[in-house]
Amino acid sequence: MSDMSNLKEPGFRESVDLMFNRAVALMDLPPGLEEKIRVCNATYTVRFGVRLRGAIHTFTGYRSVHSEHMEPVKGGIRYASSVNQNEVEALAALMTYKCALVETPFGGSKGGLCIDPRDWDVHELEQITRRFAYELAKRDLIHPSQNVPAPDMGTGEREMAWIADQYKRMNTTDINSNACVTGKPPHAGGIAGRVEATGRGVQYALKEFFRHPEDIKMAGLSGSLEGKRIVVQGLGNVGYHAAKFLTEQDGSLITGIIERDGALVNEAGLDVEAVRRWIGAHGGVKGYADATFVENGITVLESDCDILIPAALEGVINLGNAARIQAPLIIEAANGPVTAGADEILRKKGTVIIPDMYANAGGVTVSYFEWVKNLSHIRFGRMQRRQEEARHELIVNELERLSRDKEFDWTLSPNFKEKYLRGADELELVRSGLDDTMRTAYQAMREVWHGRADVTDLRMAAYLVSIGRVASSYTAKGL
Ligand code: NAD
Repeated sequence: MSDMSNLKEPGFRESVDLMFNRAVALMDLPPGLEEKIRVCNATYTVRFGVRLRGAIHTFTGYRSVHSEHMEPVKGGIRYASSVNQNEVEALAALMTYKCALVETPFGGSKGGLCIDPRDWDVHELEQITRRFAYELAKRDLIHPSQNVPAPDMGTGEREMAWIADQYKRMNTTDINSNACVTGKPPHAGGIAGRVEATGRGVQYALKEFFRHPEDIKMAGLSGSLEGKRIVVQGLGNVGYHAAKFLTEQDGSLITGIIERDGALVNEAGLDVEAVRRWIGAHGGVKGYADATFVENGITVLESDCDILIPAALEGVINLGNAARIQAPLIIEAANGPVTAGADEILRKKGTVIIPDMYANAGGVTVSYFEWVKNLSHIRFGRMQRRQEEARHELIVNELERLSRDKEFDWTLSPNFKEKYLRGADELELVRSGLDDTMRTAYQAMREVWHGRADVTDLRMAAYLVSIGRVASSYTAKGL
């Protein structure tokens, strides 16, 4: 293995390729297939003008398709001024591996628009988004059976609703038009639990990790998530929900929050909701009362904590700071937060990294449920829920009759009837499907991690599982 710590920092696309190459070196793929899987099939660049504020403004956008071994291809659309072709291609490649790892039947894709959404008001953003969607849809780069976008950094339900509506205007007779994009609001064809799905998936991933004492020990940790000190970078969609669920439901402490304008630190634990409200009102974390403010926020990545959750952007843990990272466990909620060079340094230090392609797969998993819901034109649970309740009622009535007959000396526990009778609604089914997905995928990675002497980290294990699946798919097609 090469010593990458002596090399110049690889870019995001190169980082993904280096990690891919590390994995395929341990595989026995047919000649040429490795290259076929690694390369990005196509990247479309569009430049379009929109008349705003009395002038024509030109925007540049991308939609990259990494692998079409399964269709539609899937991947978010990012709005950020730093968006570029390399980044979009790296993210598209990660989508291919992610979908294979969590067994969602999609190829990998990703899109991006070079724009800082904070520079434009809502009406302007709608015009820009609709125009971008038009450009992509007319080339089938938004299409229910070809290419299905979703939210990513800088986009959310609102943008997805505009995109869906734009597609519908262009395809008025397509009965499946709602399935052209996921992450839509619930009242516009979305699914319960999508907004928080990626953060929820991060929580489920950590819960699954902490079910395995051997794995906890490998990170030099002990016990459960309760009381664990966590530092989060980025309190956006993913970071906020992960932090919220881990504090509210698992008793973890958020001891650091790193945002664009600096970081907040409080060893006793930060109030995630209050910080989120503060950011909403003030545009940053500066000035928040119940914490110490650190102007050079990025240094807080290096602080003493049990778990580090980078949930903002790529490349933040790199050759420049990897050696100083103290957290024994990193869960990559963002895509590509650890560069290939940093990955090697951290591995040598014994840091356990739960890799992005697994850690943030909650979003695409619930997007898959949304897509299936849109294609089936029926809400999950609608047919079964009351029937399930009726069958449960039969049992409860029978148990109550037995206890009334005084044949046995017992009664039902308080609340049992109420809890047992209630059939699962859409949100519960979504959570159950997500939990199952995260557990199953972890176990697939874990089997390789612990089962092969030449695999020493979870990222390598994740790549081996997913590349193996993509390769099988191509081989079955005769490629
Ligand atoms: P978001 O736009 O909702 O939030 C990003 C947050 O990071 C914001 O609070 C922003 O202020 C902060 N941030 C930006 N630059 C920063 C910097 N330099 N330092 C510190 N904080 C900074 O985005 P998101 O949807 O939460 O996505 C975050 C990451 O998760 C991205 O890497 C994205 O690709 C990945 N991801 C998102 C989803 C999803 O469903 N939204 C799914 C999978 C992966």
